[in-house]
Amino acid sequence: MAEQWPPITGHIVGLPAGPHRTLRLMTDVDLLLAATIAAVRMNRSPILFGPPASLAECVQCQKAYARARKIIEDAGGIAKWMEWVAR
Ligand SMILES: [Zn+2]
Repeated sequence: MAEQWPPITGHIVGLPAGPHRTLRLMTDVDLLLAATIAAVRMNRSPILFGPPASLAECVQCQKAYARARKIIEDAGGIAKWMEWVAR
């Protein structure tokens, strides 16, 4: 499902909790999706659907958020996507 998107290279997405991380094994979109899974499991609202205000400052972050949201929307919403991920 995520394979239809080319990875965004040379850029690390910013999460509101901290500075940009150097997590080279994952793409920005993977990182956002992983953060979404973690948020849902901890009963927090996912940042994907309530992005930080700082997002407006970075076009690449905006793209990563949009792609990650699209993946979840294509799966039929967050509940269905979580079921799909948990398999
Ligand atoms: Zn950015």
